[in-house]
Amino acid sequence: MDDFAYTRPDRPQAAVALAARPGARFVAGGTDLLNLMKDGAEHHDHLIDINALPLSGVREVEGRIEIGALSRMSDVAVHPAVREGLPVLAQALLAGASPQIRNMASMGGNLLQRTRCWYFRDAALPCNKRSPGSGCPAIKGENRRHAIVGGSEHCIAVHPSDLAVALTALGATVHTLSPRGARSIPMAGFYLPPGDTPHRETVLGQGELITRIEVPVTPLARGSRYLKLRDRATFEFALVSVAALVRTEGGVVREAGLAFGGIAPRPWRPAAVEKALVGRPLDAAAIKAAGAALVRDAVPREHNAFKVALVQRALAEVLGEFGGSR
Ligand code: SF4
Repeated sequence: MDDFAYTRPDRPQAAVALAARPGARFVAGGTDLLNLMKDGAEHHDHLIDINALPLSGVREVEGRIEIGALSRMSDVAVHPAVREGLPVLAQALLAGASPQIRNMASMGGNLLQRTRCWYFRDAALPCNKRSPGSGCPAIKGENRRHAIVGGSEHCIAVHPSDLAVALTALGATVHTLSPRGARSIPMAGFYLPPGDTPHRETVLGQGELITRIEVPVTPLARGSRYLKLRDRATFEFALVSVAALVRTEGGVVREAGLAFGGIAPRPWRPAAVEKALVGRPLDAAAIKAAGAALVRDAVPREHNAFKVALVQRALAEVLGEFGGSR
């Protein structure tokens, strides 16, 4: 690992001022960042340890839950307000990583974790995301875990966060602080499509700090579900996942919020899937139409075509929990 400077400020304003300089990077749990640095996939000459900042805790505020960016995944997953009001969030958190990592990893860091694409993590190989312009060997290479929707000719890596998928379905908002001030970013606009700049993954600027995540608590959210399909039962990333918020009345879908993981470079929430369900009985025909809408623009690669069928089955499975028939 390269040498780096280390600072531990205790005020958010001081942290963002330090981080404004190129080469500086925040670190909280360090569960992803330190591995990337050890592997040579990322280089930072100044780590700003933010663990002393007052950004932890879960607060219930009228109609919403606010989660401090430094809250640990494990603490949020078992918080009674989250379990009751946002079950999809608790389930997504518990489906991620391992107990040891969940004890260390912060909520903000989880959103900013990097892709598990093996080419990205091997500094000896070309990769447009790690080294812009060097190429994307995954497109014609080993791409079993890669995207079937939303990719570009420059990158087909998937985003690895279960949490981000749940927050996207929930319509959460990310709050940040930077030397330019505070701002609020809806999850729907937080991640960038890869396009020809896959190294830019979010709208955050240099030195912009996630301070908290705000999630609306609604009747829809209270009945939400998360389904994750993976190669093994724990400590494994999603092949496909579904975060589902569905409200039915007399068997007819009245509201739906559906986001998908493991299939796209960012949490994937296609409006066409919800449109295919809302206003219709949750029967086999509606579920089939929603699945077809989900994969309509899919571009499967040599090793990941199985995801086209798998994600539709996952959608059907989770809708079955809301009374859907197949
Ligand atoms: Fe790099 Fe993206 Fe291609 Fe993976 S898919 S090798 S991260 S450019």
